[in-house]
Amino acid sequence: MAKVAFLGLGIMGYPMARHLKQKGGHEVTVYNRTAAKAEAWVAENGGRLAKTPREAAEGQDFVMMCVGNDNDVREVTLGKDGAFAGMGKGAVFVDHTTASADIARELYAAAKAGGFAFLDAPVSGGQAGAENGVLTVMCGGDQETFDRAAPVIGAYARMCKLLGPAGSGQLAKMVNQICIAGLVQALAEGIHFAKRAGLDVEALIETISKGAAQSWQMENRYKTMNAGKFDFGFAVDWMRKDLAICLAEARRNGAHLPVTALVDQFYSEVQKMGGGRWDTSSLIARLER
Ligand code: NAP
Repeated sequence: MAKVAFLGLGIMGYPMARHLKQKGGHEVTVYNRTAAKAEAWVAENGGRLAKTPREAAEGQDFVMMCVGNDNDVREVTLGKDGAFAGMGKGAVFVDHTTASADIARELYAAAKAGGFAFLDAPVSGGQAGAENGVLTVMCGGDQETFDRAAPVIGAYARMCKLLGPAGSGQLAKMVNQICIAGLVQALAEGIHFAKRAGLDVEALIETISKGAAQSWQMENRYKTMNAGKFDFGFAVDWMRKDLAICLAEARRNGAHLPVTALVDQFYSEVQKMGGGRWDTSSLIARLER
């Protein structure tokens, strides 16, 4: 049992923090910018509430965070009331936000200078993965830090792996998003085509999901795509944030991402349709408008 703080009780953070308490048996302190969410979390799970990230980080063995983007990460970690000001010597900070590899490297260096450790550890598996405690966690940082943090992360992960030095977790998450982007568009086109062709979509997916076209997106999204239901899941606004990170990194490392760039543009059209908060499977709505 360790002393653990969780910063950012959003769709992902709220259930992740709950697993730390209930499954991990840790002593948990929570911080959320909108205090009402942290109050609700403590009322539901017990534990302690902190008013600032700094206060949350003080005296902890581990501090986990899951906020929005690079700017949010900076706001919560740095500055007078930021978490880094409260980190004790030898403590470990784990960032589960999907952010750039640059900020991961910057915070790794700042943590080292401050006498504590930093791991970039973005996640995959969505809201359901967080609720069920079965996330995939992609880590970047030092082996010794990873070895200490992995059992704590295990409270909400079914796969957690160190993929290289600082920034490698974020680079791995970029690959994850690149793989998803083209796949979701292909699935949208397939279902769109099936409807135009007059096929029974249920029977179709029951059949082809047993063959080479099978995917997590197919199994978990075909029903709602067919029904035109998108008010849940992983928001298009977040996906565009992630794809912007991928495309910026590719400009630097010389990788060619033509389909990813195109799908990013398709998502900008979904945003224009009012779908910024829709699930990423809403690419089909663009084909059917
Ligand atoms: P969310 O529901 O919008 O929650 C974001 C959380 O971050 C909230 O607790 C929010 O506080 C906090 N926050 C944002 N900006 C902040 C700031 N400047 N200062 C302090 N707190 C701030 O988002 P989410 O869906 O949990 O996603 C969180 C991260 O996980 C993102 O990087 C996302 O890309 C990634 N992710 C999400 C999914 C998914 O399916 N949702 C899957 C994989 C990865 P308030 O309550 O005050 O707004």
